[in-house]
Amino acid sequence: MLVRIASHAADSSTEIVLANAIALGLDARALSDGHGGVTVAIDGDMHDGALDIAGVVSIQRKHKPYMLATRENRSTSTVVMVGDVPIGTGEPVVMAGPCVIENERDTVEIARMVKDAGATILRGGAFKPRSSPYSFQGLGEEGLQHLARARDLTGLPVVSEVMEPDQVGLVAHYSDMLQVGARNMHNTPLLKAVGRSGKPVLLKRGFSATVEEWLMSAEYILASGNPDVVLCERGIRSFDTATRFTLDLNAVPLAKELTHLPVIVDPSHGTGKRSLVERMSLAGLAAGADGLIIEVHPNPDSAACDASQTITPDTLARIIRKGRALTELLAEDFDPIALTVLSAD
Ligand code: PEP
Ligand code: MN
Repeated sequence: MLVRIASHAADSSTEIVLANAIALGLDARALSDGHGGVTVAIDGDMHDGALDIAGVVSIQRKHKPYMLATRENRSTSTVVMVGDVPIGTGEPVVMAGPCVIENERDTVEIARMVKDAGATILRGGAFKPRSSPYSFQGLGEEGLQHLARARDLTGLPVVSEVMEPDQVGLVAHYSDMLQVGARNMHNTPLLKAVGRSGKPVLLKRGFSATVEEWLMSAEYILASGNPDVVLCERGIRSFDTATRFTLDLNAVPLAKELTHLPVIVDPSHGTGKRSLVERMSLAGLAAGADGLIIEVHPNPDSAACDASQTITPDTLARIIRKGRALTELLAEDFDPIALTVLSAD
């Protein structure tokens, strides 16, 4: 059940709803809507009498299984703050940087270059989920230290991947946002751990995951007490091997219809091919994405990881310039975060 509590209600309204549900042996979680109101998601049924509480404005019994992530019965979209950068305001945010952090000097240089190009968040992997055990696995904590140094020198907040629950404290210590990679989207202990971390989470879609599975993974994070989740479409596996993955841009406006969470696009992994990144970045923004995450290196061919999909800072600057013009054009008669009222089915 979804129980909505008004923004003007006393805090005790939420506490009473939760207590009544828990007294009936039901799992119940509360999530702020970011505008003073609260949604209480209750796994099970309660009769109206138990919910006749001041401040309760609506009760919905039929809804999506991702009770906290759903946009149903909610009039606002979530804005996630990464450091001082808001994601989900209608103005796209670009995260850029190398696939893997290689050393401090290059990391600082790349941070300055992506900042000059217009990016506002620095990306870089320190723990890498490589396909081969013989490939460079990342610098670990040392890589996170280089990333943090680049943040200190440029002011850009940083996002980095975490692969295991035991690493969450370490990565959260150095990063402003935790990335859960495509290969770990189904890792429920990790989802719960990042849900308790107090840091915003970038949740990549698994390359064989349905949209519903992706949103259920977001639900794990929300249900663990973390409201700050950004979804990332990064390409799925299809029958066609002409590109590394197939960027599923249907999923972008669909996820925005189904949830209140911001959605960004990763055209680097989604294509695997440098020459396609600019077009697919713009296509992602045209599809309504709240931002992009792009792999950038001053000498892409020499990047230690994912060189073939890595672009130069100049190309990034062009993408951001064109992206701004495109967003302005689309905003003229189309609100990308316009609400779609969904009926539960
Ligand atoms: C990455 O961002 O470098 C990465 C490994 O992404 P994904 O999990 O989408 O493959
Ligand atoms: Mn990569």
